Amino acid sequence: MKHLFLFTFFLTSVIGFSQQNSPNIILMIGDGMGLTQISSGMYANGNQTALEESSFIGLSKTASANRLVTDSAASGTAMACGIKTYNGVLGIDTKNTPHKSILEFCKEKGYTTALLATSSILHATPASFYAKVASRREYETIAFQLSQHQVDYFVGGGKKFFIDRKDKRNLINEMTDYTFVETLEEYEASSGPKIGFLTYDEEPPSLMEGRVPSLNELTVSTLEKLKATEKPFFMMVEGSQIDWGGHDNNLDYVVSEFKEFDSTIRKVLEFAKEEGNTLVIITADHETGGLALTNGDIEKGKVRGSFNTGGHSATMVPVFSFGKHAALFSGIYENTEIFHKMYAALTKE
Ligand code: MG
Ligand code: ZN
Repeated sequence: MKHLFLFTFFLTSVIGFSQQNSPNIILMIGDGMGLTQISSGMYANGNQTALEESSFIGLSKTASANRLVTDSAASGTAMACGIKTYNGVLGIDTKNTPHKSILEFCKEKGYTTALLATSSILHATPASFYAKVASRREYETIAFQLSQHQVDYFVGGGKKFFIDRKDKRNLINEMTDYTFVETLEEYEASSGPKIGFLTYDEEPPSLMEGRVPSLNELTVSTLEKLKATEKPFFMMVEGSQIDWGGHDNNLDYVVSEFKEFDSTIRKVLEFAKEEGNTLVIITADHETGGLALTNGDIEKGKVRGSFNTGGHSATMVPVFSFGKHAALFSGIYENTEIFHKMYAALTKE
């Protein structure tokens, strides 16, 4: 009896110890956020960015399995699952084998998980962390997979793919273990262990067109919830529309979306500093627009640029890291390494 007690005590302390050491992981993806997008936003923002607080910097090679120029599905899958795949594919490799994402590995370790995006939550980047589909355009299938998945907190657009479906199912009604909220106030007030906040029916508008709530407020509120669970967590936050500004060849669009993302990064780094035991990685899936900064005025916060394409480009993108195991992210490597480095941080003592 005494031995059993001691053994139980030993087990409890080992489990307690390993949970205590498992770092929180916060991955922040600026879609289409190459070095020029960052520079533009920085000069337009009084010559400063929260990224200057990061401890290590790396460069990520973004080519997909079949294209020098990746799309957000292949690059999202590379970072989320550690595999190169074809453009347009989510969570499945070139041999048709599905792969677990870092979010799924974290969940297996008892982590709480969260996904926040300023696009639809079904869009390629957030979907890389939970969906396994041959085409990123299968939004109803992706919504169904999210409904089965048990991501603890998710925020983004795309409501109509849950409720206005070809199969006539209402996924929101089916997801009985979730609290669904409609406003930031409701989100902040909700203490449900699982919360879905579908911010818009389809894609949220740009900030310039009045998108609310701000990514900043959503992130701060989510961090409070995650902290309250007293468990380690994985959170992915996407500044989705930096990319859309690039596709539109609209530098004001790029800069405004970057600024919101940058202020969110500032909040996340403040949290990580205060909390400790937290790894923060900030990167992009690819560059968008082939942007060159050609003129401007730092004093006036004005930037001028020219775009080379309405699509993505193949230039390497920066990776900024801060906190626990951040040193893993220095160097030059394939985007799949971002998964492997997060996985190493997750399993390291
Ligand atoms: Mg995206
Ligand atoms: Zn794009």
